[in-house]
Amino acid sequence: MGLVIALNKGRIFKECLPLLAACQIQPSEDPDRSRKLIFDSVSGGHKLIVTRSADVPTYVENGVADIGITGKDTILEYGESMSFYERLDLKIGQCKMMTAGPVGVAEPEHVLRVASKFVNITRKYYQAQSRQVSLIKLSGAMEIAPLLGLADCIVDIVDTGNTLRANGLEERETICDISTRLIVNRASMKTKFDEVQALIAKLSAVVDAIGEEALGNNDQAGQ
Ligand code: AMP
Repeated sequence: MGLVIALNKGRIFKECLPLLAACQIQPSEDPDRSRKLIFDSVSGGHKLIVTRSADVPTYVENGVADIGITGKDTILEYGESMSFYERLDLKIGQCKMMTAGPVGVAEPEHVLRVASKFVNITRKYYQAQSRQVSLIKLSGAMEIAPLLGLADCIVDIVDTGNTLRANGLEERETICDISTRLIVNRASMKTKFDEVQALIAKLSAVVDAIGEEALGNNDQAGQ
């Protein structure tokens, strides 16, 4: 029957292509040379939809896609009402969701002003601590908000920490670990059970093999 798989544009798409190729799912055209956003697979009758991260859960929830591949940040930000299954950690795109503020500046006495594009994650984090904060929604480039006096701190994704440092910010609290996850539409889990399970099993084996190879390389480097 074939599966419809929705993926994030950009980094996740690039990192996922080799994983999917190892499961015999390959786009029929080179995505780097095409402006298309829907690709047929070379074999197996699958389709790959390349979309914005925030839309991946929407496509999966509504059954337009059977499978979605997106960051845990996107899944958490999508909210509690999510009616899909999260089934696999692909262990790529690993980073952290953190709070960050200007280097050496203590938190203010007044209600903390927090800028983020991850407003749901931010609200939940401070609510869990019973801390009242003033949330400022931005669409990107959160790092400049404290520099410009718009906010006291930010909530953002941190990988190497270079972006924070370049903007005079330092890491404060870790909210959660992030990595790329595979999600499944609830109906597809029933109607395409064999295909969905087969893909999860293959991807899981590929992810494990990559992890073991990395461990082996680290051991060799340490010797
Ligand atoms: P870094 O400077 O390495 O800490 O990277 C931080 C910036 O890169 C953040 O502002 C994010 O927008 C982006 N970023 C890094 N890693 C990821 C990831 N795994 N998923 C999404 N965005 C990321």
